[in-house]
Amino acid sequence: MKFNTKTIHGGQQHDPAYGSVMPPIYQTSTYAQSTPGGHKGYEYSRTHNPTRSALENALASIENGSHGLAFGSGLAAIDAVLKLLEPGDEVVSTNDLYGGSYRLFTSIYKNFGIKFHFIGMENAEKIEDYINENTKLIWVETPTNPVMNIIDIKTTANIAKRKNVLLAVDNTFATPYLQQPLDLGADIVMHSATKYIGGHSDLVMGALVVKDQDLAKRLYFIQNASGAVCGPQDSFLALRGIKTLHIRMQRHCENGKAVAEYLANHPKIEKVYWPGFESHPNHNIAKSQMNDFGGMVSFVTKGNNYNEAIKIVENMKIFTLAESLGGVESLAGHPASMTHASIPKEEREKTGVVDALIRLSVGIEDEADLIADLKQAIG
Ligand SMILES: *Cc1c(COP(=O)(O)O)cnc(C)c1O
Repeated sequence: MKFNTKTIHGGQQHDPAYGSVMPPIYQTSTYAQSTPGGHKGYEYSRTHNPTRSALENALASIENGSHGLAFGSGLAAIDAVLKLLEPGDEVVSTNDLYGGSYRLFTSIYKNFGIKFHFIGMENAEKIEDYINENTKLIWVETPTNPVMNIIDIKTTANIAKRKNVLLAVDNTFATPYLQQPLDLGADIVMHSATKYIGGHSDLVMGALVVKDQDLAKRLYFIQNASGAVCGPQDSFLALRGIKTLHIRMQRHCENGKAVAEYLANHPKIEKVYWPGFESHPNHNIAKSQMNDFGGMVSFVTKGNNYNEAIKIVENMKIFTLAESLGGVESLAGHPASMTHASIPKEEREKTGVVDALIRLSVGIEDEADLIADLKQAIG
């Protein structure tokens, strides 16, 4: 089955009770048993819920995995992966990681005796230098947030295999429409399904997909034992989101390209971050591992003036100033005062998060309206 068909049918069956085409929202915590243990595969909704199962099967299908797991948030999904580890284990990760992942690693798991190495991964070969006999996990995000660094998944996967280390890829920005990390050799794919998977800014959810039976078993155990699952209503919404993922992503990519090119030619703009430009340092890797370049675009205005950047995001009318990304509507964010405000200025500037950096999640509105909005806001 091709991807555009998988989003609609992959892992799905009509509901066995009445043939409903969409799975019902099984809003129940428990299931009747005819005799102790005499149930139809469902006992308690932390462990399993049919609506969540339908979503988990769809997730496995679109990521070319064998098992999907849905969680109450992206961070809950990451948390489940880290629970595979033990005190003394080490993790190698990127130095421009999503802020919430960084906080989880350094403010929670560090206290449990896990050691993290945050390194530049633009040259994936370098990752090997940080792997020792305690290393159990490589955690990669590509493209990264908000400066769109690209990490070579295949090269990283080869190192992980050689060293017998798990490779997890946060695929939130790219989605399986653009990149399928399991096919490139990763062991675990993670999503903040809050973003493109849900796609309508109406839920918070996380997901994991794996292809190894034993790893799936260990993660299902953690999912049930720790209990950070999502509810049936949200499962239904995410499943509905997946059905249009391919057409939404196609438009996100078209509009993203138009916006990136408009900004690159704007006299007031100093720099535009978008992996589709040939000048992007890892453009060739992006071209080889992604089907297109996505709808996330960041830019810096000339002079790098903090107040001017604030003015621009305030002036926008179609782009809404808000955290998050990946919904049908265009959003703008100012990382220095929003997502990255807690990071000291010198620290954040090292990873490109300067005062005038603005991040856009380009939505699926009409391209001309989006360009006109940027034009009036930037002046
Ligand atoms: C939002 C996000 C997360 C965290 O997901 P939540 O659903 O907010 O918990 C993790 N990684 C990336 C890249 C994200 O954008």
